[in-house]
Amino acid sequence: MFRVELGQSRSTSELYRAKEWQVIWSYESIRYNHRAFSIMCLFLEIIGMLSIQDDLHDELIEDDRTMVGLFRVLSNALVHLEASAKSKTHDSRRELLIFLGKILIEQGVFPSREACAFCDAQLEKLGGTYLVIDHGGFACGECVGHLEGVKASSPLEGRELWELLGVVANQRYQDLKELKMEHYGAVTLLLHYFLFQFQLEEHQLKSLKMVL
Ligand SMILES: [Zn+2]
Repeated sequence: MFRVELGQSRSTSELYRAKEWQVIWSYESIRYNHRAFSIMCLFLEIIGMLSIQDDLHDELIEDDRTMVGLFRVLSNALVHLEASAKSKTHDSRRELLIFLGKILIEQGVFPSREACAFCDAQLEKLGGTYLVIDHGGFACGECVGHLEGVKASSPLEGRELWELLGVVANQRYQDLKELKMEHYGAVTLLLHYFLFQFQLEEHQLKSLKMVL
């Protein structure tokens, strides 16, 4: 990560040059772990897709705060990834689940964990919970049983994801070290939810096949 001070050679020039630059942070262990490196590529690809184009000619860009949240998630994700690679506890699926959860919170499309998306039943009291991908939330078994042709998870994976997202939402990124997953399907489920929310297709994420 660099801090760069830009300058124009002439005020009318379209070209900017780096007057000064300084390394703020760089990874060390990620480059020795191909799985950690692959998921870093995926994080960068996702952030690239969600980001707006920077415009150096826009004088108000300094006051624009729209990208601060995404920058924070990416920055935290890379530090978290580096720490897990360094301690040799790296797990790509866990990293992806945390990253997607934090992105969904940041973008305001995190699925509600409180009540069923259809009938307002309190999900905490239920054993099985379903994630209904194309209806944007968790649901109870009774409602899912009445729905036809919806993309719903299994109750076990849905419940595990419901539990995991509670931890992701309530803890700071760097504190999320011990996130235990029994069913790796919970990560795939969250990925499909994310893709649906942003109207993306799996094949658009080129690094994905190196991760899952
Ligand atoms: Zn319901």
